[in-house]
Amino acid sequence: MTTLDAHAPRPDTPLLVDTFGRTARDLRVSLTEKCSLRCTYCMPEEGLPPIPDAARMTTDEVIRLVALAHRELGVREVRFTGGEPLMRPDLERIVAGTRAECPDLPIALTTNGVGLEHRVGALVSAGLSRINISLDTVNRLEFAQLTRRDRLPSVLRGVRAAVEAGLDPVKVNAVPLRATLHGAPDLLEWALAEGVQLRFIEEMPLDADNTWSRVELVTAQDVLDSLATRFELVPAGREDPSAPAELWEVVGHTLAGAAAHVGVIATVTRNFCAACDRTRLTAEGTVRSCLFSDDETDVLGVLRSGADDLEVAGVWRGAMWGKQVGHGIGGTAFHRPRRSMGAIGG
Ligand code: SAM
Ligand code: SF4
Repeated sequence: MTTLDAHAPRPDTPLLVDTFGRTARDLRVSLTEKCSLRCTYCMPEEGLPPIPDAARMTTDEVIRLVALAHRELGVREVRFTGGEPLMRPDLERIVAGTRAECPDLPIALTTNGVGLEHRVGALVSAGLSRINISLDTVNRLEFAQLTRRDRLPSVLRGVRAAVEAGLDPVKVNAVPLRATLHGAPDLLEWALAEGVQLRFIEEMPLDADNTWSRVELVTAQDVLDSLATRFELVPAGREDPSAPAELWEVVGHTLAGAAAHVGVIATVTRNFCAACDRTRLTAEGTVRSCLFSDDETDVLGVLRSGADDLEVAGVWRGAMWGKQVGHGIGGTAFHRPRRSMGAIGG
């Protein structure tokens, strides 16, 4: 990564550049802290502290901030996440409004899939382009233990409904844990049968209960070793050069007429901070330049004070210019961020 002088003036560009030569083009927007599940690696049992309704971005505010990020800051994709974005009854209106303002912007959703079957058709009609559904196991008992809710059947119906609604590809993201690693081959078998793309993502120290441990970490290599007990896997490169997922061809299996692949994302053991192109908005409308930085810049406050889009964009650029070099997990200087994954927006 090229290191520019941190004290140098910001170059005169509208884009979201930082002092390490990166440009953020991928916007993640957390829509809520609420969730229908309580995954142990993410949320506390009682849920996250509630955000007062007045402090959460409204439908119109989300649409305005996404649209200005696209028009003024060079953002090329938006992903709505949370918490659980389906907990927002106005999700369809947010997608439709974003689509109306930004006809060419890919709009993606990361969801746990609970209740998705009832809404995915309307979301696609509203303009949703892509979906990632999070699912760590197809064993109902283990799912209930891991998420503290017995909702596996609803998630499975949601995945099928997303495929039937025409979203292509439907990606399924799994966080591998010690307790569920033995089921990784079953999860891949299910994904192949459903025609969805499975990717495993190493657990990061972003759980609310503070139980993450490097020693207990299930690595991308552990996952590959587990899958290899049932499948023959051949390395197949990356989705694109800057994408974090390393792909493996699943020999003898096809997906949509082509060779089937499984992905592993080694967020911890092979971090990809040097290629990071993300900028994040929390549900309260603060910009976070990095998952692991506690620095947040209140762009919603600026917007609510009556500022125009250009002024808000300027504040957003300043927030990203100060982005830190990387997360440093495992290093002596590593500090866990104060907010957990569900509060930041995964
Ligand atoms: N509720 C939605 C869902 O589960 O897809 C969206 C929000 S969730 C925070 C987004 C993603 O973050 C999920 O795929 C989840 O598995 C992942 N995640 C949560 N905590 C994590 C952690 N500690 N390490 C790695 N991924 C995590
Ligand atoms: Fe909810 Fe998603 Fe966190 Fe699970 S990972 S508790 S579904 S926000």
